[in-house]
Amino acid sequence: MRLILLGPPGAGKGTQSQRLMQRFNIPQLSTGDMLRAAVKAQTPVGIEAQKIMSQGGLVSDDIVIGLISDRIEQADAAHGFILDGFPRTVAQAKALDVILAQKHKELDAVIELRVDEAALLARMEERVRQTIAAGQAVRSDDNPESFRLRLEAYREMTAPVAAFYAELGSLHVVDGMAPIDDVSAQIDAFLKAKAST
Ligand code: AMP
Repeated sequence: MRLILLGPPGAGKGTQSQRLMQRFNIPQLSTGDMLRAAVKAQTPVGIEAQKIMSQGGLVSDDIVIGLISDRIEQADAAHGFILDGFPRTVAQAKALDVILAQKHKELDAVIELRVDEAALLARMEERVRQTIAAGQAVRSDDNPESFRLRLEAYREMTAPVAAFYAELGSLHVVDGMAPIDDVSAQIDAFLKAKAST
């Protein structure tokens, strides 16, 4: 099962990825997580990405395409994966096509979690509250100003990715405003229906 989860920051991609990961026993490949690890380790990629990320901008296509291309090669991704936060630009989506074609692999589904933008800031603030309550470190881009820029980046650069897959006929939209279990149920129902066609 090779899936892409699309949706703006705070749409619930991470939560749904975790569930799909357990259900299908495949890894979640999050370019955001990979980049945060690179920043933490202060690798050359991390040093380059750090400032852009904390400001809510997009890291260069070359960097994230390189990360994903290497990650897909790893053994745990041989039977599938869930892409979370990638592709974020049409150039990344086209590069992914090429990478998969070279490996003779295909995408099974592209699922967009569609949400009401007005609710997203409140979700981010709730995530910050829960993170602090759990005694964990808050992401440097989880603040209103960076969040506004992340939303803008989504509108400008990533919304066209959904349009790209819609044109290819591979986009499936679910209601990301529904409770978490209902969103999971919508995704499950879609995947089940797809598997039986
Ligand atoms: P995320 O954890 O997916 O919200 O990503 C956090 C930040 O990492 C984003 O705001 C971007 O700065 C950067 N990032 C993650 N994935 C990508 C990507 N596919 N393309 C460009 N930048 C990315």
